[in-house]
Parts: sequence; structure tokens; C-alpha cells
Amino acid sequence: MLKKIGVLTSGGDAPGMNNAIAGVVKSAHAKGIEVFGIKDGYKGLINGWFTKLDSDFTLDIISKGGTVLGSARLPEFKEESVRQKAVDQLRKHGIEALVVIGGDGSYMGAQRLTEMGINCVGLPGTIDNDIVSSDYTIGFDTALNTVIESVDKIRDTMTSHNRAAVVEVMGNRCGDLVTYAAIGTQAEVFSPSESKLTEEEICIQVKKLADINHRSVIILISEKQFDAKALAKKIQEVSGYDTRATILGHTQRGGRPTGMDRYLAFTAAMFAVEKLIAGEGGLYIGIENNQLVARDIESTLNMPKPDRTQIINKIRILNSKQIK
Ligand code: ADP
Repeated sequence: MLKKIGVLTSGGDAPGMNNAIAGVVKSAHAKGIEVFGIKDGYKGLINGWFTKLDSDFTLDIISKGGTVLGSARLPEFKEESVRQKAVDQLRKHGIEALVVIGGDGSYMGAQRLTEMGINCVGLPGTIDNDIVSSDYTIGFDTALNTVIESVDKIRDTMTSHNRAAVVEVMGNRCGDLVTYAAIGTQAEVFSPSESKLTEEEICIQVKKLADINHRSVIILISEKQFDAKALAKKIQEVSGYDTRATILGHTQRGGRPTGMDRYLAFTAAMFAVEKLIAGEGGLYIGIENNQLVARDIESTLNMPKPDRTQIINKIRILNSKQIK
């Protein structure tokens, strides 16, 4: 019978991580299990930065963005000797199992720890939606709503002044934030990571809109593709639109978690605790077809990414057939 478990957040922070922490605490307490919050991810794990969490704590954190436990990156965790320090700290404190909230790098750490005798279950905490075996990740919905709200605001002013705007969106190597936000805002042109447009293709599309006197144009691009300002300059030269560039940046990482993120985070955390109580580890919880699923970490990392080409192409066709 488990007596003490730990919870940590690792990698990039995401809104909803606190709801996952709350889910772990409440479901463990309901079974008489103590929960220790580990500060700053694997860094706190090797240093023994552990604090016992009480049930009241969950109410203080559920509406807060970021992660109250803090997150950090620790590349040395790939070394077994460093992970051994973590195992020693856990044993010293009597902590027998862990919930790890983070992205796929964090799951690798969780898998290695499981192999060293500490059962770990991972939860998908990232705004990027880049955990392939989960339809959604904790934080994606909040970030998407932030992007949509920002683009709506940019649209207001672009329309007032008959301008075009290049808006750079996060997502690491995953274009979902761009694709979903493009649909949500009716961005005229969008270039998600998996279906990139060239600078020339973007300029041609914007020029066509200028030729039919389209009032404002939003061009959404995934990060790491273009220099947004240089792209805006080029679009202005080719199309004649006065063109501005906005990099949404870290506004996308913060903010109060949406209802969907809170729901996913809390229920996935409950499931994770059930798995730990059942004596299982090396698992990762995802959501597929609206059902929580537990998968083996090793297999989940090798699953193919869902193909969004069809929907991207359909939306692009709609965008190219506007009638005045
Ligand atoms: P994310 O979890 O968001 O993908 P990272 O890739 O930065 O973020 O991983 C977070 C942390 O997980 C790293 O700083 C490191 O401590 C740990 N980690 C990543 N890859 C491995 C690995 N192969 N083995 C052990 N630990 C790892």
C-alpha cells in the first residue's frame, strides 16, 4: 500500500499544471496517501526540495496560471549517476512513486526513474499540443484562446487602417496553435510548422487580397520559420499593404487556465494516481476520442503525429475563394 507520493512539473510551463497538481493531491488524500510537491522539476528532485501539500492548498492554486511548484530544465538528468541522487532523495523521504507533469523530455526522465525502481506516471503539460498520443495537452486550450483573443484585437486595428499583420505564434515544432487559431480567427493566410508556406507563396496570396481590395489581412506563422519583421517588410513591398509584425511570445504561456484545461488536467491526474496505487509505472496519460488512456511511455514517444494536412488544405481552399 502506497503511503507517500511526489508530484513535479518539468520542462516548459503551461496553464492547467496547477489543476493537475490539485488533482493529484485530492485523489491521493482521498486514499490516505500523503503528497509531496517537488520544487523546480528534476532539479528539486536531486536536491530534496520537497514540501508536504495539504488539501486546502488545492483551492489556492486552481485558478492560477503557470506552475506553483516551479519548473526547471536539468540536462544532466540523462546521466544515471545524477538520477541516482534523485532516487536516494526519494528513498530518504519515503516517497515511493511520482507524478511527472511535462512534455516528452520529462517523460524520458520518468521512464528512466521507473527503470530504477520508482514508479512514475506522466501527464501531458505543454501549450504546444505536441504529445502525439493525446488529442489535447494541458495548456493548449488556454494558449489557443490567448492567441485568438490577441489576433481579434490585432484584426480590429488592421481593419481600421486597411493594413496587414504578420503574427508569430508559439508551438515549438507543432503547428496546431497556428492551425486552430487560423480557423478561429479566419486568418487569411497561415503557415503552420507541418505545412509551411514560402515567403513567396505568402506574398502572392496577400497580393491577391490587395487586388480585390480586401480590407485587412492576418498572416499567422509558427515560430522558428521566418523573421516576422523581415517578412512583414517583404509583404508590404509586394502587396502595398502597410504591414506590421507582432510576436505574441510569452503571453501565450501564462494566464488563468480555461475550463477545458482544468478538466483535462484534473481528470488525468486522478487517473495517474489510480495507476500508481495499482503499482504501475512507466506510463503516460493522454486523452483520445474523449477517453483518458494510459500508455507505455516508450511506445507513446514513437507514435506518428496526427496528419492535419486535409483540414489545412480545406481551409486554404476556402480562403482562396472569397467573393466580393
Ligand atoms: P519537455 O518535458 O517540455 O519536453 P525538456 O525536453 O526540456 O522539456 O525536458 C525536461 C527535462 O526532462 C530535461 O531538462 C531533463 O531533466 C529531463 N530529460 C529530458 N530528456 C531526458 C532523457 N532522455 N533522459 C532523462 N531525462 C531527460
